[in-house]
Amino acid sequence: MNTAEATTPPPVCRAGEGAMSIRKVGKIYDPEGVHVVALNDCSLEIAAGEFVAIVGPSGCGKSTLLNTIAGFDGLTSGEILLDGEPLATVDKDPRPGPDRVVVFQHGALFPWKTVLQNVTYGPVVQGAMSEEDANKRAQEMLSRVGLNDIETAYPGQLSSGMQRRVEIIRALINNPKVLLLDEPFRAMDTVTKSASHQYLLELYDATGKTIFFITHDLEEAIFLADKVLVMTTRPGYIKKTLQVNLPRPRQYSMLASEEFLAMKAQLVEAVHEEAVKAFEAGEREMA
Ligand code: ADP
Repeated sequence: MNTAEATTPPPVCRAGEGAMSIRKVGKIYDPEGVHVVALNDCSLEIAAGEFVAIVGPSGCGKSTLLNTIAGFDGLTSGEILLDGEPLATVDKDPRPGPDRVVVFQHGALFPWKTVLQNVTYGPVVQGAMSEEDANKRAQEMLSRVGLNDIETAYPGQLSSGMQRRVEIIRALINNPKVLLLDEPFRAMDTVTKSASHQYLLELYDATGKTIFFITHDLEEAIFLADKVLVMTTRPGYIKKTLQVNLPRPRQYSMLASEEFLAMKAQLVEAVHEEAVKAFEAGEREMA
């Protein structure tokens, strides 16, 4: 074995990790004051390595659910388990951790650091990798998503699609158990969005990470996920589970298949029903 092989960092994939049980979760914001019941009796199971998409009307509690998993917000009732261990309970203070990394719609790259510095910052600062190993891993991952020539560029020099790819690589280099994505491609034009889907799927196929993906785009949800969950209008819980049995790797031609269109019709109906309820209940913003 040569030196380069000996210093190669461990593979990103850790098969079999990242299973989540979300059990009867409730979240009330400001129980003594405005008393917004965002989640009520919300339960779902996510298998290790499963790609799950969550859809539902605006304000139904999607981000709240993500924030409770991420450890940004506490629970009012219920519990969340990660690989069988309690992650969030009513008695536990919420705590983010390197096993759950979030990528948001609006980027959070350090503008004063280069792409390579942004990606390697976490593992190097945490002492998880030497700078040399982190650079090597980052270069491998960046080239996997077509970004091999931009290591010395600054975020401000990149398109939004490229920035989001860098952020996803930055999340994955920390080898989380779960990748949490909150509408990461929402503001993108159609072409950039399709390219972003392709890169995300490639990373998913390569790493087998559990992915929890919030979106209001029903086609995107079906095209990417193994399972699409529809949330009710607030207080949110899972109203419908759609198993997506399209084979992987996913191809764009699948979007026109009868199977795809039938799944989309089911989701449109389920989400529309909830959007109407939300409107009637006075929620102004719709999915
Ligand atoms: P979604 O992501 O589905 O659009 P959210 O999870 O952001 O929905 O919000 C669910 C509900 O909780 C909304 O009615 C929202 O106004 C309310 N909410 C979210 N965060 C807070 C907060 N910090 N304080 C009070 N209410 C909140």
